[in-house]
Amino acid sequence: MHVVVVGSGIVGAATAYELAQRGVEVTVYEKSHVGAGSTGAGGGIRSQFSLPANVALSRASMDAWNTFEEEFDVEIRERITGYLFLARDPDTATQLERDVAMQSEYGFPNEFLSAGEATEHCPGLDPGPYVSASFSPEDRFVDPNLALRGYVDAARAAGVEFELGVAVTGVRRDGRSSGGPVTAIETADSTVDCDYVVNAAGAWASELDALVDGELPVEPRLRHQLLVRPSGSFPPDLPLTMDLDTGAVFYPEDDTVMIASGPQETMPTVDPDGYTEGASRDWTLAVLESLAELADYFDEDTRVQRSISGVYAQTPDSNPIIDEPVPGYVTAVGFSGHGFMHAPATGKVVSEIIVNGEPKLLDVTSFSARRFSDDGSSTERSFI
Ligand SMILES: Cc1cc2nc3c(=O)[nH]c(=O)nc-3n(C[C@H](O)[C@H](O)[C@H](O)COP(=O)(O)OP(=O)(O)OC[C@H]3O[C@@H](n4cnc5c(N)ncnc54)[C@H](O)[C@@H]3O)c2cc1C
Repeated sequence: MHVVVVGSGIVGAATAYELAQRGVEVTVYEKSHVGAGSTGAGGGIRSQFSLPANVALSRASMDAWNTFEEEFDVEIRERITGYLFLARDPDTATQLERDVAMQSEYGFPNEFLSAGEATEHCPGLDPGPYVSASFSPEDRFVDPNLALRGYVDAARAAGVEFELGVAVTGVRRDGRSSGGPVTAIETADSTVDCDYVVNAAGAWASELDALVDGELPVEPRLRHQLLVRPSGSFPPDLPLTMDLDTGAVFYPEDDTVMIASGPQETMPTVDPDGYTEGASRDWTLAVLESLAELADYFDEDTRVQRSISGVYAQTPDSNPIIDEPVPGYVTAVGFSGHGFMHAPATGKVVSEIIVNGEPKLLDVTSFSARRFSDDGSSTERSFI
C-alpha cells in the first residue's frame, strides 16, 4: 500500500511516522519546507477542553508526549507549569466545574478552585472579579519545532520519503462521476499512483479538498499574539493563565518576557500564502488593558516587543475533521488552535483508519465531515 501525505507540519509528520511504523510505504509532499506552516507557532499542550472528544484526544496525545523524548531520542524543552482558567460569569463557573469532573474521568488530576485558591498558582492574579477557576497541573509547553524534527527524523529513519518543495496540484479518482476512490496524485511534473491521500495541509486544507470536489469548512484565520515585557519581575514557572470570559491570556516565555493574547473575534480570514503580519494598535491596546485587569504583572510600563502572527485552520465549531469522506481520502484538518498538541493521537488514528479500516485508539465520529451538514456539531468552548 502506498500512502501520500500532503503537508509536513506536525500532523502530516506524525501520520507519516505512524503509518511507517505499521509497515506502510509513505511519501510526504510538502510544497515548501518542513515547518513552513503553523506548527512552529505554539507548543502548548493541555487537557482543559469542554468537549469529551477533545479531552480524549488530549489523553491519548498526553500519553505520547509523556514518553516523546525517550521514544524519539530528542530534547523538546518541556515546561510542565499547568494551565489556569478563570471564570467571572457564574454560568462559566458552572461549566468549568462540569468540565473538570469530565476531565478527571480521563485521568487528568485537574482541580476546580475558588478564585482565592487560584492565586496560589498565579500570585499576581487579582481574584476580585472571578467566581472560580480550574487548574491542570500536567498541562505544559514544549518547543514545537523540536517535536516536529523528532517526528520527521524518525519517519525518515523508518523509510518515509519527503518530497520537499513539491505541491500536490491534483487528485485522481477512479470512475469520478460515481464517487470512486483515489488512485493517484498530481504534481507539476508527475502523476504518482497511491492507495490513499491524507489531507494534512493545515490552513491550505480547503484548497486541497477542492481537488477532491470537497467543501470542507476549514478557513485560514489570522491569529495574533504579543510578546510583552512586564516592567517588574514574575515567576517564570507561572501557568498559562486565561480569563475565559474576556479571552485575555498570558504565559511566561522565559523569566523576562511573556506571550499574551486576547479575544478571538479579531480573526479575519486570510490567504495563508500572503497576509500582512502585525496586530492592530487598537487590538494591542485592548489586550494590554485586559492583561492589567487580570494580574499585577502588567501596568502602563509593560512593553510590547513585537506581535507574532500565524494562521489557524479554523472550523465552525473549533474542532478538527478526522474522517474518510471519499474512499482513499482521509482528512486530518481544521485543528483550529490545538493541532500541535493533538498530533500524536491524530497520527495514530489516521493510520488505523488506513491500515485497519477504522480507528481503534479513539472514537472520532464527533469529528466527522458530515457533522456540519447533519447539524451534529458541538462547539468547543475552551478556545485559546
Ligand atoms: C499563533 C498560533 C499559536 C498556536 N498555538 C498552539 C498551541 O499552543 N498548541 C497547539 O496545539 N496548537 C497551537 N496552534 C495551532 C497549531 O499550530 C496547528 O493546529 C498545527 O500546527 C497544525 O499542524 P498541521 O500539520 O495540520 O499544519 P501546518 O503546520 O500548517 O502544515 C501544513 C503544511 O502543508 C503544506 N501544504 C499545504 N498545501 C499543500 C499542497 N497542496 N501540497 C504540498 N504541501 C502542502 C504547507 O506548506 C504546510 O507546511 C497555534 C497556531 C497559531 C497560528
